[in-house]
Amino acid sequence: METLTKIWLSSPHIGSGEQYYVDEAFRTNWIAPLGPNVSGFEKDLESYLQEGVHAAALSSGTAAIHLGLKLLGVGKGDEVLCQSFTFSASANPITYLGAKPIFVDSEKDTWNISPELLEEAIVERIQKGTKPKAIVAVHLYGMPYKVDEIESLAKKYQIPVLEDSAEALGSKYGNSRCGTFGDISILSFNGNKIITTSGGGALISKNKKFRDKAIFLATQARDNAVHYQHSEIGHNYRMSNVLAGIGRGQMQVLEERVHARRRNFDYYFEALEDLDEISFLKEPSGMFSNRWLSCVLTPSYNVREKIRLALENENIESRPLWKPMHLQPVFKAEPSFTDGTSENLFQKGLCLPSGSNLSFEDLERTVEIIKLALK
Ligand SMILES: *Cc1c(COP(=O)(O)O)cnc(C)c1O
Repeated sequence: METLTKIWLSSPHIGSGEQYYVDEAFRTNWIAPLGPNVSGFEKDLESYLQEGVHAAALSSGTAAIHLGLKLLGVGKGDEVLCQSFTFSASANPITYLGAKPIFVDSEKDTWNISPELLEEAIVERIQKGTKPKAIVAVHLYGMPYKVDEIESLAKKYQIPVLEDSAEALGSKYGNSRCGTFGDISILSFNGNKIITTSGGGALISKNKKFRDKAIFLATQARDNAVHYQHSEIGHNYRMSNVLAGIGRGQMQVLEERVHARRRNFDYYFEALEDLDEISFLKEPSGMFSNRWLSCVLTPSYNVREKIRLALENENIESRPLWKPMHLQPVFKAEPSFTDGTSENLFQKGLCLPSGSNLSFEDLERTVEIIKLALK
């Protein structure tokens, strides 16, 4: 029997420019967590994102969130409001700092943090005598969160926002790119993201002081002295010059990658939209999603599983939507403000193969299996 080639959910997609920069790092012996590729990659990010932002290339998106929260003043015993419907890396760094996450459910238009529940959470925590130190909002699957609503709450209650844009490089809210909102933003270049450095991340801010302090903390917090002197606890979080070379090559193809991901979504939408059992999250007006992953909603857990298992049987990888943090065993004791939205999405939603390197035949095969499973 012929085994069909595996169709992955979201695999790395290397262009033609990456090897040049990596070779250059070897040729010039810049095999270190600093060098021309690191500063070149940061410049590329800054000119792509616009808005006068400053970028610090780091070892991961998780490291960027850890430093970002630290720079926003989060410390031991503090509370941080966090979108519950997300990947665990949005929330884990809160605990690295000895702080406590307070989870907030999503709204239906974008699947991201609900402004109503967020305000409810802020008011309740303030009444209890602990004003939250920061808000972690996430553009999940590349769909922007309700930036205006979240920013006006942040302003009203004077709480800074950390924008988790790990999945949303290439997305836009109004005329501005995701990664330029919030007091501090973060990006991820993990292997499954829209562009990759194999592993990596960045901290972005319009405030140059945040960027400079992030680089200081990411390089072991060395004071300005000839010997090694430290007045603060540092981290080893800088991006390697070899990996930043991959990033420079990837930046040359980012727009193509966004285009290809959106093309995947459009293909699934055209092919499946008429089925009663399948629905999609539409782009609200004024929002532009990179469609990092193409997601579908089904009427029930059972239908979701029927599709997922039929795909698995044909060597096609798909995955349930993120399991909300307030339902995770590790976070079940933490306070949460929920209305069932993200739990429902988790039960009934599925991410379909979404890589920018999928062929037309891959998409066709996937759609065919889904249609057969629902017959
Ligand atoms: C991938 C991801 C991160 C973490 O990025 P890493 O580079 O893998 O550490 C954080 N938040 C979200 C929403 C992500 O998808």
